[in-house]
Amino acid sequence: MTRPITTVDALIAAGLAPEAARPALDQVAKRYAMALTPAVVGLIGTPDDPVGRQYVPDAAELVTQPWEQDDPTADAAFSPVKGVVHRYPDRALLKPLLACPVYCRFCFRREHVGPDGGLLSAAELEAALAWFARTPAVREAILTGGDPLMLSPRRLGGLLARLAALEHIELLRLHTRVPVAAPGLVTEALLGALPRHKPVYVCVHANHAREFSAEAMRALAALQGAGVVLLGQSVLLAGVNDSVAALEDLFRAMLRARVKPYYLHQLDAAPGTARFAVPVARGRALLRELRGRVSGLAWPTYVQESPGGGGKRPLGPAWEVS
Ligand SMILES: *Cc1c(COP(=O)(O)O)cnc(C)c1O
Ligand code: SF4
Repeated sequence: MTRPITTVDALIAAGLAPEAARPALDQVAKRYAMALTPAVVGLIGTPDDPVGRQYVPDAAELVTQPWEQDDPTADAAFSPVKGVVHRYPDRALLKPLLACPVYCRFCFRREHVGPDGGLLSAAELEAALAWFARTPAVREAILTGGDPLMLSPRRLGGLLARLAALEHIELLRLHTRVPVAAPGLVTEALLGALPRHKPVYVCVHANHAREFSAEAMRALAALQGAGVVLLGQSVLLAGVNDSVAALEDLFRAMLRARVKPYYLHQLDAAPGTARFAVPVARGRALLRELRGRVSGLAWPTYVQESPGGGGKRPLGPAWEVS
């Protein structure tokens, strides 16, 4: 298989959903984008295994809980111009597009991401860059989306060069799923498009050790070879990584791939994601058990978005001072 799975037909043909699920999955597919790359399909044994659960749509997505919200992080309230989210004084997000290589079933932006939405027009991108240029308190430009590595190397390189040319921008950060979900996109052209005179941090989203395939390891090593500092971000997900062993394996896999675990996110309550929820008390207990078992390098900060857009709050766990 060389093309991504983007339809219910293809999903069933690949044996990732039973024929009987078709009517419900058609409803899910109408509402939420779907894509499984060949790299990801190759890692799935069964649809409910730790990789399958992340990407294979499920009828449960049609059920919205009363506490679930379309914009759980309240990005819209902190957007000075289209495509920019400015919540903290020293850093801001830029979302040049809303397409991703894969569509995660638990995504907190699931009401917004998709293959044909959200590419900023040339004028919108100019307006966003003009905002960065006139906001000198911002030292860090964080490209997210969608997935910024879905841009062509030429476009991405042009955008990064414009940002890096601003004197007050000290560092660039990209949040991406590409190195694990579509490692073939990490090409020489992409590496060549990364600025060299300012630090580039790439924060890789991965939730299970199995996502660090040989291809993913090569893509990550290539990025690191191009001078990029690699960080890892994960979401604590029921049935994916909600055990001490799974978290230990995940963070150890990251370190082997030169990726420093940065954040472990509490799930944001986006619509139809309740099957992934892990209570905070359970998350704290898992991390408490992990402490001491793994290198301090493997330790991420466990964070939750505060409601109403207050930003990320560390959740502990905390220990008594003796
Ligand atoms: C998450 C986020 C950031 C980055 O926060 P860090 O704690 O620096 O990783 C920046 N801006 C917004 C709006 C965010 O949601
Ligand atoms: S790659 Fe990120 S933005 Fe895209 S669907 Fe997954 S979690 Fe959402």
